[in-house]
Amino acid sequence: MSKNSFKKTLLSILSVFALVFFLGACGKSTATSTDSKDAKTEEQGKKLKVVTTNSILADITKNIAGDKIDLHSIVPVGKDPHEYEPLPEDVKKTSQADAIFYNGINLETGGNAWFNKLVKNANKEANKDYFAVSDGVEVLHLEGKEEAGKEDPHAWLNLENGIIYAKNICKQLIAKDPENKDFYQKNLDAYVNKLSELDKTAKEKFNNIPAEKKLIVTSEGCFKYFSKAYGVPSAYIWEINTEEEGTPDQIKNLVEKLRKSKCPSLFVESSVDDRPMKTVSKDANIPIYAKIFTDSVAEPGKDGDSYYAMMKWNLDKIAEGLAK
Ligand SMILES: [Zn+2]
Repeated sequence: MSKNSFKKTLLSILSVFALVFFLGACGKSTATSTDSKDAKTEEQGKKLKVVTTNSILADITKNIAGDKIDLHSIVPVGKDPHEYEPLPEDVKKTSQADAIFYNGINLETGGNAWFNKLVKNANKEANKDYFAVSDGVEVLHLEGKEEAGKEDPHAWLNLENGIIYAKNICKQLIAKDPENKDFYQKNLDAYVNKLSELDKTAKEKFNNIPAEKKLIVTSEGCFKYFSKAYGVPSAYIWEINTEEEGTPDQIKNLVEKLRKSKCPSLFVESSVDDRPMKTVSKDANIPIYAKIFTDSVAEPGKDGDSYYAMMKWNLDKIAEGLAK
């Protein structure tokens, strides 16, 4: 173990001890002061503590909850949510959270299954403390040799599923914080309308593009839900970020497929290494048209910095690129 990682391990151990001590202290103080008026007022003034696993779920949650909650989101913008090491801060916030929203269907629970470890360490219970926001979507499955039969997590790339996510989040917010029910419900209704409008546009968008040009090519095969919803097939270098990314064989297979196609443009995701796609672009002699957002929203203030904005950006860029 290097000096640095030893330091890190020591810090995580210390922070877990500090947390246990802190939680113990909190428990005691509430138990002894429940009848005091001050404590009650303080309790009422407290916001619901919510944790989300990634920036997309955080944005959907913010659209419904506004400033009524304290929100902590775990995987930083632009980083891969499939495989992640939670920081001491994430462990602390998860332990203290009233509600935790995760995607499920093999996202944070696939690969190194970081989310399962996190909620276990934080002593949280499924469907009481933490909720899979993908509950109720029609799940698609992976097809590759090693992954066949496993769930494909990228359901949010179909806006109809995004609406299911928003409804699931709203339902739990209301259950945990009934006082703000009307506020949450009103925001949900407005948000669902906005997403439905974009979904309608999306379904019309690809009508004028010739069938032989309709192919979305990305590094990770994350467009199955999108392809099914909007009628544009997809191809990829590797199928999911938890497998080997960009091996010579994966690149060769895609390049062979592209040489036989009339696909005019390639795309690369904001949350992956872009070098394998650059190699594909060179070997297949097809330009990379744009960066798109699949597993993360964009940095605040940039194009694509919300779930709605990233979906709109993707739809616009894909339609433009395939019309070339
Ligand atoms: Zn992904």
